[in-house]
Amino acid sequence: MDISVIGSGYVGTTIATCLPELGHDVTAIDIDEAIVEALNQGRSPIDEPGLDELLAEHAEDRLEATTSYDAVPASDVTFLAIGTPSNDDGSIDLTALEAAAEATGEALADKSERHLVVVKSTVTPTSIEDVIEPAVRRGADGNENVEVGVNPEFLREGSAVADFTHPDKLVFGTNSEWAMDELRAVFEPLLEDHDAHVVETDPQTASMIKYANNAFLAAKISLVNDLGNVCKEFDLDAYEVMDAIGLDDRISEQFLRSGVGWGGSCFPKDVNAIIAAARAEGYDPTLLEAAVDVNDRQPERMLELLADHVDLDGARIAVLGLSFKPRTDDVRNSRAIPTIELLRERGAEIVAYDPVAIERMRERFPGLEYADSAADALEGADGTVVVTDWDEFATLDEEFDAMASPVVVDGRRIIRRRDGIAYEGLTW
Ligand code: NAD
Repeated sequence: MDISVIGSGYVGTTIATCLPELGHDVTAIDIDEAIVEALNQGRSPIDEPGLDELLAEHAEDRLEATTSYDAVPASDVTFLAIGTPSNDDGSIDLTALEAAAEATGEALADKSERHLVVVKSTVTPTSIEDVIEPAVRRGADGNENVEVGVNPEFLREGSAVADFTHPDKLVFGTNSEWAMDELRAVFEPLLEDHDAHVVETDPQTASMIKYANNAFLAAKISLVNDLGNVCKEFDLDAYEVMDAIGLDDRISEQFLRSGVGWGGSCFPKDVNAIIAAARAEGYDPTLLEAAVDVNDRQPERMLELLADHVDLDGARIAVLGLSFKPRTDDVRNSRAIPTIELLRERGAEIVAYDPVAIERMRERFPGLEYADSAADALEGADGTVVVTDWDEFATLDEEFDAMASPVVVDGRRIIRRRDGIAYEGLTW
């Protein structure tokens, strides 16, 4: 099939690069010229394992990038993978997605064959009916051949290629059997080769499935963090406790690692968005609100443990890890952000290090001191907090001996060395 993908961020680049693996020809469209240029040169605009190799392979024949929407009508299906960031009240900001939906509609105004526009972006249940579909229709000047469907994305940054090509489930939300057939055709190779579950439903339910999925996972981590904080109060190792409860099939062993909390471009935004959407309908989702509260508290708890050992005012503190999780350069809502802000409030002098995310964090904190290596960050520091579980931190050892005082607060249970340093685990 010929597929156009609008938006070439973390999701758009991944799907535009992986759809050729399913045998499709793809046009990636983004308003950012630098992104388009990178894609056409076979370079990934984002740091994501496996993307560069696939891009180099497909940029030659099956993938083309452009800033123009001209390729949309010639394609069979269009995916919208535009950001849906948070407004101040937690609700989602649909401005960019609405603009892209309208521009897509405009490009399709004269198309005489049926065309499916699929929303990949995460949107609340009423967004399609109230905002996105009307925008497409407005642009398309009422062209009845254009239909809108939903196919939420469940990939995780850091393993995006594997997640997209080997999904646990595919969720298709459409208003017609024709649109459902189109989505089945796009993903047919995945359905044949892998045992992905397919959920076929309406657009509103498909949108809600994505939020329920993320809200459940975020709340699970917050529950584990809450219980982990209780374990720490009793001087118990939360990981020993969680390993045991994970043996219960109803709980499962996944997502039981307690620590400094969840971040990234999805969990915080999505949990806040579904809370705001529920409140707008007159319902307060108490448990989800508590999940956010627990998450907000974890960086503060990490600094309390640090303050037990070091007077933070004027102390030099190394922050290890800036991306929201390992194997990505994405710093959106990383727990490093509140950690740095709280350290600053307490008068600490900060030196930060991350293997790949320094440039992105520099945009957020331009004046901060950044080190070229963990060893450089630790040298002469009065204490350190570990915010991201990058593999390279596991092997840190004699680097701690170069600290002015070797106080290590581990927010991710990644540091192996324990002897000869003041080591504090966040929940162990
Ligand atoms: P992103 O901000 O990385 O990318 C969005 C891209 O859209 C940018 O490159 C931007 O230049 C482009 N863009 C904006 N307006 C445009 C327009 N009018 N026309 C063409 N391009 C335009 O966002 P993302 O992380 O890829 O997320 C996209 C959506 O997918 C969001 O709704 C997000 O919640 C959802 N999602 C993200 C992830 C993830 O891990 N990042 C996972 C699942 C779902």
